[in-house]
Amino acid sequence: MKKRNIKALSITELASAITGLDEQRHRSDQILQWLYQKGVTRFDRMTNLSLELRRLLDKRFVISSLEQIEETHSNRDQSAKYLLRSEAGTLIETVLMESRGYQTICISSQVGCPLRCSFCRTGTGGFERNLRSDEILNQVLHLKMNRIEPRHRFNIVFMGMGEPLLNLENVTKALEILNSQHAFALAQKRITLSTIGFPDIIERLTASPLKFGLAISLNATTDRSRRKLMPQAAGIGETLQAAESFARNRRMRATLEYVLLSGVNDRPEDARRLADMTHGRPFKINLIPFNEWDGAPFKRPTEARIDRFVKILLPRAPAVTVRRSQGTDIDAACGQLRMRRERCRD
Ligand code: SAH
Repeated sequence: MKKRNIKALSITELASAITGLDEQRHRSDQILQWLYQKGVTRFDRMTNLSLELRRLLDKRFVISSLEQIEETHSNRDQSAKYLLRSEAGTLIETVLMESRGYQTICISSQVGCPLRCSFCRTGTGGFERNLRSDEILNQVLHLKMNRIEPRHRFNIVFMGMGEPLLNLENVTKALEILNSQHAFALAQKRITLSTIGFPDIIERLTASPLKFGLAISLNATTDRSRRKLMPQAAGIGETLQAAESFARNRRMRATLEYVLLSGVNDRPEDARRLADMTHGRPFKINLIPFNEWDGAPFKRPTEARIDRFVKILLPRAPAVTVRRSQGTDIDAACGQLRMRRERCRD
């Protein structure tokens, strides 16, 4: 019998696998603690389970993990990029950032990305596959066990490679375990999922018990220019409506990310339209000056253009911040992650 991947099970699937072995349900909570709080990679380390159960688990299941292939540190800031490899040989990029005492893990949900937004380097490499839920969780676990001080709080952003809502099943499985008291125990404010925004999927997530913050990559103020930049994006009106309902339901603001592209979407009329469409709504706007990459068809606006945009926006829009991207020198910043095609095996 082929062994099952225990970290790819949802909490309910794990519980029924354990009760199916004639064990009490709370054993599955103990297993979650070993896997995600203590980070063990062998069943014989799970010392509060009977020897018999540990042997049985070892016969039926494997515990997956990611191996670190490369670690690159920025010379300019406190960010580092990690190249991690799964058992199948898939290479995954994860970024760890630090600012003002907070550590944030930026995780990938897919290898490559099928969206092909014209300003994003990830899209230029095409799409390879969805990451499994255990591959998403193991990115967090790898950094938590190896690079984050024990008991130190950290944040997670789904802003690495891929579009999380196009890998919904694995992403929601991972979110459930990130939230669980027996596993990562991360509160709503510690997790942000960034998406181009599929309104129907956002509505479904609004109705779910999953706890996370929502960020929408808006990037334009007319449907026409949004479509041009992001061919798979839905209309702005319905996208903002879905984000607003999500935010009101969770009693929080949704973030609107807006990549500033010189001469394309950073003109005074763009700033005015952005202020109009967000005025009085539960949003915060996060402006991201474009991070340039080789061959990119766009330029980063000058500081003067960024200032002009902010000055028009500020008086009427809800909270506005300018993201000073970290890791630009190591290609770790927003939109700079690129798919590595080589698959190395030892
Ligand atoms: N697919 C999801 C997750 C990717 S997050 C999404 O689109 O939200 C990546 C964020 O970085 C998005 O807000 C995207 O608009 C932004 N981005 C992409 N390329 C960029 C670039 N070259 N410079 C700055 N921001 C970029």
